[in-house]
Formats: sequence, C-alpha cells, structure tokens
Amino acid sequence: MTDTTVLELDGVTKEYGEQAPVHALRGVSFSVRQGEMVAIVGQSGSGKSTLLHIMGTLDRPTSGVVRIDGVDAARLDDREISSLRAHKIGFVFQQFFLAEHATVRENVADGLLYAGVPATERLQLAELALQRVGLADRADFTPGTLSGGQRQRVAIARAIVGQPAVVLADEPTGSLDSTTGASIMDLIRDLNDSGTTIVMITHDMTLADQLPRRVRLLDGQIVSDSDRQEPT
Ligand code: ADP
Ligand code: MG
Repeated sequence: MTDTTVLELDGVTKEYGEQAPVHALRGVSFSVRQGEMVAIVGQSGSGKSTLLHIMGTLDRPTSGVVRIDGVDAARLDDREISSLRAHKIGFVFQQFFLAEHATVRENVADGLLYAGVPATERLQLAELALQRVGLADRADFTPGTLSGGQRQRVAIARAIVGQPAVVLADEPTGSLDSTTGASIMDLIRDLNDSGTTIVMITHDMTLADQLPRRVRLLDGQIVSDSDRQEPT
C-alpha cells in the first residue's frame, strides 16, 4: 500500500426527491489509498449502493466533494466525467451486466470502449485480463454458455482491463452460491495482492471480516471505520 490517495469523499450528502426527500447519505467523509482493499458494510437501505455510485461518478452528490485521483469531479462537465470514469474506475455489480450476443473477449474489451483505446489493442488487452481471471480458454464463448461464477469473472476482467485506479464492486458475490462466491473472493484478493485498489460492498459479514478494512454505514452515515481511531 502507498500513501497516494486514489479516492476521497468529503462531507458527501445525497438526497433523492424534492418533496419529503430521502436522505440517502448524510455527510460521508473517507478516503481510500492506492493498494487498499476496503469493505463497505451496512444493512439494506443504509446507503451503500448510493455511496458506490457517487464514488464511481455515476451519480453526483447533493453536496460535498468527490475526488478521484486528486481530481474534483464537480469541476468536470459530463464528457470529462465520462472520460475520468473510463480511465480511473472499474465496476463490478451483483448482476454481471454482460452483453449476451457478444463474445467473452468482446465483453471484456468493452471495458476500454470509452478510454480511447483502438479496437485491436482493446481485444489484446482483453485477452490479458481474461488470463488474469483464469478464463483465457473461454474468450470465444458467449456469456450464456458460462456458469454464474464464470460470468462474474468476465465482469471482473472487464473492470480491470484498463488498469483503473480503483475497482468498485457492489455485492459481487450476492447472486452466487457460497462456494462460487468464495472463489470470486479469492480472485478479488489475488487482484488486490497484485496491486489493484478495491472497494467492495457486502452485507456478508463473514466476507467483510476477511478484509483488512471495514467501513460501516448506518442511515447514510459512517458509524465505524476500522482504519480510523475510534472515539473512546
Ligand atoms: P443499500 O445499497 O445500502 O441497500 P441504497 O443506497 O440503495 O442502500 O439506498 C439508500 C436509501 O436511498 C434507501 O432509503 C433507498 O430507498 C433510497 N434510494 C436509493 N436509490 C434511490 C432512488 N433512485 N430514488 C429514490 N430513493 C432512492
Ligand atoms: Mg445496495
């Protein structure tokens, strides 16, 4: 791990709706250093997915600051934000979101679609990413021929193909059986061991307990962060 901060939130709030707004986030501040692996935990409705979307610049906060690799996202227009996201962030979701009619290789290459990488190079890099997740032999298959665990490996390959500053994962094992989930966790840990910065949402405490840092959300606020000195 280094001292370089790749992701920083300062006083982030998020309200949904105008009349009787839902306060999904109520002043969240925390930062992630390069090489870290962080679990975000908390019960359903505590704001985990909202936080992930805002960290990933898929959504803008109502107030507060989001910095990705030192860049204040609020200062960027939509086109610049898309570019920042394409270069700096990889996403993994519970529901893999693969294109069913494209090959596994094309699905992974699509992770570079908005990063300005030429097509031939996209496919070559996809090949390398598939090797990292142990699916090089499935490159020409379509997702429909794969198991759930393999599909999530494809989604992970797509997330890491551009070597993003941070990978954000929302319940990556949430729709897998426990054995498959454990193997996906092993993969995620391997990626982290080789330097990938990872923030992972989970409501599985057994999984979270295996991670070096846990941030707990409750009603849109951080109530504990194992990295931080707890008040005594
Ligand atoms: P979690 O991922 O921890 O289950 P969410 O971030 O999905 O929590 O939701 C936090 C709160 O914000 C919940 O009360 C939820 O109903 C609300 N919420 C989330 N997304 C929206 C939305 N698009 N519109 C309105 N309310 C939302
Ligand atoms: Mg959620």
